[in-house]
Amino acid sequence: MKDIIVAIDGYSSCGKSTMAKQLSKLLNYHYVDTGAMYRAVTLYLLRNHIDIHHPEHVKEALADIQIAFDFNEYTQTQITLLNGENIENEIRVNPRIASTVSDVSAISEVRRFLVKQQQLLGSVKALVMDGRDIGTVVFPDAELKLFITADPTIRAQRRLDELKVKGQNTTFNEVLANLTKRDHIDTTRADSPLRKADDAIELDNSYLSKDDQVSLILKLVNERKSATA
Ligand code: C5P
Repeated sequence: MKDIIVAIDGYSSCGKSTMAKQLSKLLNYHYVDTGAMYRAVTLYLLRNHIDIHHPEHVKEALADIQIAFDFNEYTQTQITLLNGENIENEIRVNPRIASTVSDVSAISEVRRFLVKQQQLLGSVKALVMDGRDIGTVVFPDAELKLFITADPTIRAQRRLDELKVKGQNTTFNEVLANLTKRDHIDTTRADSPLRKADDAIELDNSYLSKDDQVSLILKLVNERKSATA
């Protein structure tokens, strides 16, 4: 059976990354979290006080940004590196990242810069990549495309639980407002808006357990692998 590319898109906090990680482990595939790349760029721009309303300043700054992924064998987790620095925790818990990342992601220069790198990572198959435009822009020919949705209040509760575990003091309403705002910006931006690719399979995981979801997707992966063999 041939190796394939699994493209996973969907709204914020639908559990895409958790599911994609689990899937890549079971398949022994490479995993790329493209949201982490947009978060890393956002962190760099914030730290360096780059005005995101000036695309030419942003473009200049991009030349100084190197993003890489590393794997922590001890915690068995993926780490995002920005110019060699481990920024994994900061990009997940810093509220300024959550409130700015969708505006940064709407900048065409940023998208071009990151999409190019994402496509290079897919030059070998055996890949699970998650984001907002993977099935529509990054890999329009991916063998399996999934579009994940879930009830916004369920998503907000899941995200709140995650942030609490990381020691963040926030409220359900703040989290819900951030998700709603990000979804709005992500679906209405001019460049590569979040939308379901015509040939993507839509999956609402509001009431699906993680295990049921992953077995369902594994079944789809195996079907596609046999079809492309
Ligand atoms: O997936 P995550 O929630 O970490 O993504 C953070 C933000 O990055 C999203 O809200 C979206 O604005 C942006 N993003 C994007 N395209 C992707 C991945 C993420 O625009 N492929």
